[in-house]
Amino acid sequence: MNTAYDIIVVGGGPAGSMAALEAAKGGASVIMLEKDREIGVPVRCAEGVSQAGLKLVMGFVKPGWISQKITKAQLIAPDGTAVDVGTAGQVGYILHRKLFDYDLASMAGEAGVNILTRAYVYDIIRESGNIAGVRAEHLDRKIEFRSRLVIGADGVESRLGRRAGLKTRTKPKDMDTCAQMTLADIDIDPETIVIYFGNQVAPGGYAWVFPKGPRMANVGLGVSGKYSAEMKPIAYLHQFVDKHFPGAKILTLVAGGVPCVDTLKHIVADGLMLVGDAAHQVNPMTGGGILNGMIAGKIAGRVAADAIRKGDVSEKQLSPYVKEWHKTEGKNNERSYRIQQVVNKFSDKDLNKIAQTVNGIPLKNRSIMQIFKTALLKHPKLILEAAKVYGGV
Ligand SMILES: Cc1cc2nc3c(=O)[nH]c(=O)nc-3n(C[C@H](O)[C@H](O)[C@H](O)COP(=O)(O)OP(=O)(O)OC[C@H]3O[C@@H](n4cnc5c(N)ncnc54)[C@H](O)[C@@H]3O)c2cc1C
Repeated sequence: MNTAYDIIVVGGGPAGSMAALEAAKGGASVIMLEKDREIGVPVRCAEGVSQAGLKLVMGFVKPGWISQKITKAQLIAPDGTAVDVGTAGQVGYILHRKLFDYDLASMAGEAGVNILTRAYVYDIIRESGNIAGVRAEHLDRKIEFRSRLVIGADGVESRLGRRAGLKTRTKPKDMDTCAQMTLADIDIDPETIVIYFGNQVAPGGYAWVFPKGPRMANVGLGVSGKYSAEMKPIAYLHQFVDKHFPGAKILTLVAGGVPCVDTLKHIVADGLMLVGDAAHQVNPMTGGGILNGMIAGKIAGRVAADAIRKGDVSEKQLSPYVKEWHKTEGKNNERSYRIQQVVNKFSDKDLNKIAQTVNGIPLKNRSIMQIFKTALLKHPKLILEAAKVYGGV
């Protein structure tokens, strides 16, 4: 097995595959190391993306990636008031992430990336102070992989950044802990996603029903780390499912964290880049990180290949990635974080009142932006921020 490459990508999720793909397209020799035995498994995700976003990142959408098309959204206030939201013709998808992640990795493979599963990266190799590769365990064998550059795409539990000396810790209040079941044999409208709010449902977060088919959905919730010690997300989820889907058949049960915070201050160092959840690039308001991770991966892979061609992998040479990420999505995430901080302070009573007010707006004018305007009336500055984030929605 070849163990020397220009670039090592750690983690075979959407961010890692896109980084590896772009770097290989740019002429670099690349290996992607994934600790699990299979790319895309287990799925710890509700799998929701916007059609527009997916098209923008990939340039095309393969029908096989889509398990359900979404055309409507409904928000449920703590007292049960339902608010239908206009989507202005915008469509969403609930993906088959197993197939989607597989496809992204195989596209990277087609571009020349070597891929190794069951390869757990446990350390960084340094030589004369410089990053020179990683140490991995593969099928009970310890292997040293050498490279000029390492891209950490190792997800929310990323250790690579910390090992390389970057500050990657998150305050508990900024880490949503999630639990999710895929439920079958349930009554739902398959084209509508439903979001539930309330301190009894998911304090500091929300619960979701993301349809995967006519009678199947990803049903989950995220609770802010500030509250998750009081009652575990899984307990909130059982309570939610018992109430809304009694008798449902549980096909999967997963748990995971989502960093709902600004991008890390430092996502590059000499010989190292972080992408995706490892760099905290999730949208803090929605918890969506698939497309953001892919966007970041694409930029990082391109910049990485350029650095290899120039023979300079210094932090300075890698910094265009940071700049471009902030211009493309990072700034939006910062605005979303500020809005989320205010929204999180709303009491159940506030949310009920907002829902009733919004229901007074005709459905055709009831966009996400309108809802924010109503919710943030006391915070005019944030209405402007929301307009920048959700402009056009
Ligand atoms: C319950 C839940 C619901 C979600 N719902 C949505 C949603 O509807 N829409 C959305 O856009 N986002 C959602 N997200 C967030 C989304 O799943 C992530 O943002 C996205 O998967 C990030 O991609 P990534 O490539 O950065 O990381 P990941 O997809 O987590 O991939 C990281 C990979 O690195 C591997 N790895 C980790 N450590 C090592 C190591 N030491 N050595 C080798 N490999 C390693 C892991 O096995 C994994 O395959 C959700 C998250 C959760 C937890």
